[in-house]
Amino acid sequence: MRLLVGSASDVGRVREGNEDAVRVDERLHLFAVADGMGGHRAGEVASATALEALRAAVAAGRPISEAIESANTAVFAKAHDDENLRGMGTTLTAAVATDGNSIVIGHVGDSRAYRFHDDELEQITEDHSLVEELVREGRLTPEQAVVHPQRSIITRALGVDESVLVDVYPVDLDPGDRVLICSDGLTTMVREVDIARILRREHDPQRAANMLVDAANAAGGEDNVSAVVLEAASDDPPRGERADLTTATPLVPTTPAAVDSAEASEAEPQADRASDAVIDEDLPRPIRLAPRGTTRRLFRFLVWLLPVAIVVGVAVGAVAWYARKAFFVTFDAGRVTLFRGRPGGVLGFEPTVERRTPLRVSDLTEADQADVRGKKKFTDKTRALEYLSALQRKADERRAVAATTTTTSPAPPAAPPPSTPIGP
Ligand code: MG
Repeated sequence: MRLLVGSASDVGRVREGNEDAVRVDERLHLFAVADGMGGHRAGEVASATALEALRAAVAAGRPISEAIESANTAVFAKAHDDENLRGMGTTLTAAVATDGNSIVIGHVGDSRAYRFHDDELEQITEDHSLVEELVREGRLTPEQAVVHPQRSIITRALGVDESVLVDVYPVDLDPGDRVLICSDGLTTMVREVDIARILRREHDPQRAANMLVDAANAAGGEDNVSAVVLEAASDDPPRGERADLTTATPLVPTTPAAVDSAEASEAEPQADRASDAVIDEDLPRPIRLAPRGTTRRLFRFLVWLLPVAIVVGVAVGAVAWYARKAFFVTFDAGRVTLFRGRPGGVLGFEPTVERRTPLRVSDLTEADQADVRGKKKFTDKTRALEYLSALQRKADERRAVAATTTTTSPAPPAAPPPSTPIGP
């Protein structure tokens, strides 16, 4: 029997970084999904670190439970050594093909593995989550768990303690059986009946993985979403991208981008985490509250709004600067007046009076009148003031000439000095 595989991972519609990571290792027949948590990129580091350590351990021939324990050790050590990564952790659900007819699944956290057998979807793994434990104890119904506000709190993860308990599930596969490994970004957004419907309808594993991710995004994409779809195919002649596991032909991950997709992207601050969750004392100790819900959406909105506000602010500032850096001289209320701004204004920034002179239209030469009527423009205030001074000087000279001609024509020999009132 041959094993076919398709995988996809996506940031979703709400979050900025993809803290999920997917590993499809062709040579080792290893398939895994990790869902990291931790602020400032730590979640991405956690999921990528876990998958790399898992791969190395499987390559060294370690069984899946030990390989996941060593992934735990790697994440725990990294979180311990680097203050920026403290508190990070990750889920890990991994399948290793043991032979052509079976796989073994190792699991920690709330990512899931399903088997699709005889057209029915069966959940293989048990979530290590608060709501699942409450369901098992009979304190919540499965329906209540789906919509529970604390459904993202997980009670077991890699990187949190020095040791971790790994659940192991051997799974026999009949020809045609599929195995789906996915992060909670799929199962919280898409109902199991719809997951089953997609697997029933889409036979190509890669297209099925893509459709599952698309369905999560169509439902809101509130979390990172990852899916790996395996299919146990009978030994019919290979078609297309199929690969033969039993003859050790490398498996073909049909979407290279989906292989180990811990993408480099900005992880978000996660202020609204487990610390502010209110949990009963007798409940299992929560170690994560996945950042979802109203607070997160508000935060997301603000994060989105801030750059927009900055861009708008810069644009308004640029317009204001452009509008206000110029000067012009024109007649206003019959006087020569200096304005700051541009004639007519720019996008609501109207010119304002900078200085009003006593000069009237008649004080100016005809050439100067024409210049001033045409709104004489200046790029700086000093030049504009120099221009006003020149107008004033010319006006004074013209007055002086006029006064001289009027006073000298009668030529009285003993003209009295101008009567300047100095005092009583
Ligand atoms: Mg998740």
